[in-house]
Amino acid sequence: MKTFLNTLNGQLVASPSTFESLNPATGEVIGLVPQSTPEQVAQAVAAAKAAQPAWAARSDEERKALTLKVAAVIEANADHLAQWVTREQGKPLGGVGPGQVPGARFEIWGCQVWSQVTASLDLPMEVAFEDETRRDEVYRKPFGVIAAIAPWNWPLLIGIWQMIPSIRAGNTVVIKPSEYTSIGTLELVRLIAEVLPPGVLNTVSGTGQVGAWLVENPDVNKIMFTGSGSTGAKITAAAARNLTPTTLELGGNDAAIVLPDADPKAIAMDLFWGAFLNMGQTCAAAKRLYVHESLHDALVAELKAIAEAMPIGNGADAGIAMGPIQNRMQFDKVVSLVDQARAGGATIVCGGQPTGGPGYFYPLTLVTDIADGASLVDQEQFGPVLPIIRYSDVEAAIASANRLDVGLGASVWSKDIASAKAVASRIQAGTVWINQHGAIHPMVPFGGVKRSGWGVEFGVDGLKAVTQAQVISVKK
Ligand code: NAD
Repeated sequence: MKTFLNTLNGQLVASPSTFESLNPATGEVIGLVPQSTPEQVAQAVAAAKAAQPAWAARSDEERKALTLKVAAVIEANADHLAQWVTREQGKPLGGVGPGQVPGARFEIWGCQVWSQVTASLDLPMEVAFEDETRRDEVYRKPFGVIAAIAPWNWPLLIGIWQMIPSIRAGNTVVIKPSEYTSIGTLELVRLIAEVLPPGVLNTVSGTGQVGAWLVENPDVNKIMFTGSGSTGAKITAAAARNLTPTTLELGGNDAAIVLPDADPKAIAMDLFWGAFLNMGQTCAAAKRLYVHESLHDALVAELKAIAEAMPIGNGADAGIAMGPIQNRMQFDKVVSLVDQARAGGATIVCGGQPTGGPGYFYPLTLVTDIADGASLVDQEQFGPVLPIIRYSDVEAAIASANRLDVGLGASVWSKDIASAKAVASRIQAGTVWINQHGAIHPMVPFGGVKRSGWGVEFGVDGLKAVTQAQVISVKK
């Protein structure tokens, strides 16, 4: 069995112990992953710290050119990386473009595009104030060493979101991938680090403990974390001890509100993917669907037809649209939430029972006759099950959308954009999409409100988030 290696100061390094990475579609061991030691975490941070001044001293043009080289390496190795994403994360290979299943190839294409777009961004000096007595110029400076901690749902894409703006802005990075999906990230960094100076990008694979060692290191100057709220709270506590700034991209429980004038047939497919992309294991997926009573039954029928026609299976096989749930913990959570809903009197429209077999397969599941307060509605299911709640009063639907302590995304579905916007502006979420859900874009800032986190990623605002302002103030 192959042991994968970390990239540390431009070298590939092993650790004294390893753990197994499993294919969630088959249960098979697909490789061994190093459990980084505390010394290795310290070495990785030290390497990043040593490499950072020279990296920051390079011109913007040089860092842009190298970021584009990174994108080219991703493109050249797209198939290799996509195979690892499917084998390890479970999503189907799929394809890129209209009519293609958005799976592992789409994830790698996203890595390439995000790198290219980030390479094109600039943070020019801004004159904050000028009169006859003074001139105040604002420059954006890198933080130094960025610690990136990534989850398992879109492991490579989220890693890229953390790493690429950081290096583009002149920081160096130590990334800890999720222990469920380490190999793809180790391979990605191994490949792209070849075109970067040693120490600019480093990995430390391992369990949450390795992440804890990383974030508590006093030489880390900023933490980028994407994952659950409970881990986000632990990282915030660790960061507080060193006063390390953080960007937190945490969980959500996105509401989608379908207004009475929507056309069920026209919106069903987009709504389906908005909820079930990556088997619902997407931070900004629609996780609670509020449908006006006048079109509830028609929309449920449309969604049921789509869900039942989706081929589920091993994502490496041709024609598969949906893979397994990524891990046992998440599988058990989905099983339990649906069982609780059923016991509480909800209707299981389709799916609702584990498929069986060696992998963590669970069918696409729609649940109706359920209300706010049910655990399937109030908790983030992060899996292939969507509760559909009937409403009669739009005001009540808005109140429902806002009643939880999270606010990552939301969506409003209507033929009338003006009335959809009026509803959207009243929803407490970092992004409210209209007639789409989860439609992130590399130029558009993305982040949560409430307990979905703080700070944004993507675009110029995302690049600013990995820099700090320096003012040079001149007396005239
Ligand atoms: P998780 O919090 O369990 O793990 C995330 C990462 O944190 C892993 O690499 C883990 O090893 C590490 N970790 C665990 N304990 C740590 C500690 N004490 N110190 C430092 N690192 C530690 O999350 P997950 O289950 O991998 O991801 C699913 C969650 O992530 C969901 O809630 C989802 O909504 C959220 N998510 C949010 C976004 C977003 O952009 N807002 C994107 C994707 C996923």
